[in-house]
Amino acid sequence: MTGRVPLVPTRCAICGSEGKADEVYAANVEPDMLDDAVFSARRPPDGIHFRMVRCRTCGLLRSDPIVPAEHLARLYAGSHFDESEVPNLRRTYGRVLTELDQYGARKDALLELGSGTGFFLAEARANGYRRTVGVEPSLEAAARADRIAGVETVRDVMRDGLFTPDSFDVVCIFQTLDHLPDPASVLDECRRVLRPGGLVLAFNHDTAAPSARLLGERSPIVDVEHTYLYDPRTMRRLFESRGYEVCAVGSVRNLISLRYLIHLVPLPGPLKALARTLLEPIGGLRLWVPLGNLRLIARRPEGA
Ligand SMILES: [Zn+2]
Repeated sequence: MTGRVPLVPTRCAICGSEGKADEVYAANVEPDMLDDAVFSARRPPDGIHFRMVRCRTCGLLRSDPIVPAEHLARLYAGSHFDESEVPNLRRTYGRVLTELDQYGARKDALLELGSGTGFFLAEARANGYRRTVGVEPSLEAAARADRIAGVETVRDVMRDGLFTPDSFDVVCIFQTLDHLPDPASVLDECRRVLRPGGLVLAFNHDTAAPSARLLGERSPIVDVEHTYLYDPRTMRRLFESRGYEVCAVGSVRNLISLRYLIHLVPLPGPLKALARTLLEPIGGLRLWVPLGNLRLIARRPEGA
């Protein structure tokens, strides 16, 4: 437990306005309920979230108010990482990485924000990227990444001055943009560390996906860890507002085990336990499904 934490207001990441938003979901969490177990990757969905509002100008969905950024960083530093779906995530992320080839990606240096245990950086190396660097606040996850040959991990969150300007060809942000308390500043810093013409690949939840629209507040993406939630339109606007040229944005499929799919579905406890028992013999079955994620590819303009 972390004790009572004062909540702070958030701004729309696109237009920068504070307030000027309509409540979509009321908060169902008290700050003193928050500990690092709640801020751990792929924990069981528990439906906990801050108040969520939608900007009247941009349509961007955000949590407001939230815990302060320094407190968030401490929670993530102590967070844990469930590796059961890693082989499938590696295939999913690897498939979108190969899309960058058609945009002429150079492969000297790739940076990943929120690199966890480094499995995607290992995949990037297998795809021919020569230098692969991750930024990861979880000390436990970073220690595991250190065991992968050729993968460098900086124990931190992405912030100004962490890397020299013009030093990466590609920046990847998998299931991390939603978590950032100040995505606009982080995207500015990514643009600075990219070489002119370099590419960003972002992959995260999509509030316009059928599953998210159907489930509404019961969707696992409405979550205390998500400061912002995007759809293809607000993703495009965010990147364009930070000076990027958007090359592509749209929905993608994930490779997922049947076992993990059951884990995600919001069923009452006894029903979920029954489904798990009945389907356990084929729980390892893997499927490419539209799980409600989107991916965006954007470029730092040559002259900027
Ligand atoms: Zn706005």
